[in-house]
Amino acid sequence: MALRSVNPATGEEIERFEEFTAKDVDTALSWADSAYRDWRRTTFRDRAGRMRAVAEVLRRHKRRYAEVMAREMGKPVREGVAEAEKCAWACEFFADAAEGFLADEAIATDAKRSFVRYQPLGPVLAVMPWNFPFWQVFRFAAPALMAGNVGLLKHASNVTRCALEIQAVFQEAGFPDGVFQTLVLGSGGVASIVRDPRVRATSLTGSETAGASVAEVSGSVLKKVVLELGGSDPFVVLADADVGMAAQAAALARCVNSGQSCIAAKRFIVEAPVYDVFLDAFSRSMAALKVGDPMNEETEVGPIARHDLRDELHRQVRESVAKGATATVGGTPIPGPGAFYEPTVLGGVRAGMPAYEEEVFGPVAAVVRAGDVREAVRIANDTKYGLGASVWTSDPEKAQRLAAEIEAGMVFVNRRVASDPRLPFGGVKASGFGRELGPHGIREFVNAKTIVVG
Ligand code: NAP
Repeated sequence: MALRSVNPATGEEIERFEEFTAKDVDTALSWADSAYRDWRRTTFRDRAGRMRAVAEVLRRHKRRYAEVMAREMGKPVREGVAEAEKCAWACEFFADAAEGFLADEAIATDAKRSFVRYQPLGPVLAVMPWNFPFWQVFRFAAPALMAGNVGLLKHASNVTRCALEIQAVFQEAGFPDGVFQTLVLGSGGVASIVRDPRVRATSLTGSETAGASVAEVSGSVLKKVVLELGGSDPFVVLADADVGMAAQAAALARCVNSGQSCIAAKRFIVEAPVYDVFLDAFSRSMAALKVGDPMNEETEVGPIARHDLRDELHRQVRESVAKGATATVGGTPIPGPGAFYEPTVLGGVRAGMPAYEEEVFGPVAAVVRAGDVREAVRIANDTKYGLGASVWTSDPEKAQRLAAEIEAGMVFVNRRVASDPRLPFGGVKASGFGRELGPHGIREFVNAKTIVVG
């Protein structure tokens, strides 16, 4: 079967790709297996040199990569350029930090010497989503490869050109064959790869359905899996917050990547005394966003990545409005061949509405009124997800208290949630388990081997 790339800004098919046959997959896994035998014996210094070369390639061609992303999934080019630069940063960060993160750890016992040594696991499969087609892959690959593993990428079916460009980055940077490979495959091919004895672990970023399915297969063959899944991040605005600053940050927090980010703020929970003023200022910030051609440097919000995803977004808006929410701005698809959607603010959102209960993947904000701080925390936690959260307040003690009470993998105070190679990234509840990035991320795909010398 062929995978299709369709430009979401125009609805036109760009390219088709033949899926790998079973024999192609088998060959790729054999290469990974044999590449691993050599790669695991390379030094940190050697791996770091190559990872820095990857960063250079990414920076050299960042504009081209941004254009490929814009064409395949509609990301505005200026965000695509920033994404390629962030990938380069992650490569350099792990090139510098991996050796320290994975240094032997002495532990005092009654033996002469006892310590933990971190060693790679082997070939790791990465099942990745389309929304940050470069960043998702590099935030897996930079730490995993620096730890001495080799990587196999099964990317989302609508961004195959990005996946092939990423493989080419590693080739151009001089990585040995087989250390990073792209498998051109639909999701039907994942289970047998997870089960293959040559593959040691899987990292999946995507929906809960995909995560549950890969976790089930991994469990059946007793293999490790790290899951980075969806989110419905709360953005909690307390009565003592700088509401103007919060409202401006809110538009960016909601509409980063045209609203298609797992850590985009999705539920804006506002304490009653500032609810009306926040709703008004936020609606104005959302209405001012420039929606348009992702190839245009000025564009702030591009199309939704696929037409079916825009249909789903509109269903969520329609049903929320039918249940009593009010669209203060937007609320409809933009007519034309592209999958554009108006930046939308829904006021008066309550439990039971799709905008409250479900992950909303697009430039649509749900604003929820909270009677007081306690109710704000209750609403923030009233979700099956637990990825990120932000709290807006001028009271540092309140901020600490809320940060402790919110059920999330990451809480930011007076800042929008963002990933950073230096900090662990991941969620709790239905947002998944395990961590990427930072010292915790690099230790996911290693054997923490205890060595005791008598
Ligand atoms: P998706 O449909 O779950 O796809 C993600 C990847 O999983 C794709 O490569 C997909 O392949 C594959 N896949 C889908 N169903 C599968 C199955 N049953 N078995 C094995 N693999 C399967 O998600 P998406 O629409 O690309 O991405 C959006 C979702 O990702 C959102 O929920 C978002 O919140 C989440 N996300 C989370 C994070 C995080 O760090 N927590 C970051 C970014 C995105 P095909 O494309 O071939 O179907």
